[in-house]
Amino acid sequence: MEKVKYPKAHEHFRAYLKNGSHRITPERFDVLDAALDYKGHFGADDLYVKMISAKRNVSRATIYNTLELLADCDLLAKRHFGDNKTRYESSFNRKNHDHLVCINCGEIIEFGNDKIQKIVDEVSEELGYEVEGYSFTIFGRCKDADNCDILKEKEN
Ligand SMILES: [Zn+2]
Ligand SMILES: [Zn+2]
Repeated sequence: MEKVKYPKAHEHFRAYLKNGSHRITPERFDVLDAALDYKGHFGADDLYVKMISAKRNVSRATIYNTLELLADCDLLAKRHFGDNKTRYESSFNRKNHDHLVCINCGEIIEFGNDKIQKIVDEVSEELGYEVEGYSFTIFGRCKDADNCDILKEKEN
């Protein structure tokens, strides 16, 4: 038997699927592994291409609905960077962070700043809400023009 690469994540996902009466299939765990292996931010089609080229037997539909399930149970974070494309990234064993996106070349930089979380906590406290999540993305342009080709996909 193959060794499970992310036993904690598998356990979490299995319990979530069971609780929600979702089917527990090996394909869904394949998608989980591939998603957690992916470095950076990816769309459903990016993951599909990667899995197919790694000779994994998986359908686009399975990827799409499994990514939704993984985001719903917080193993993945769902991101929107202003271009109508839904991206995902692993949030398993990762620190919360925010993003800066270059609107020219599309590069996505991650950063962490405790002040942002503080503002989120303060504002929700003031307004009488419990925080479920927030989204904070800076849109800018690389100052270094040599590194900033229009529409260059620099994500990996
Ligand atoms: Zn990120
Ligand atoms: Zn740029």
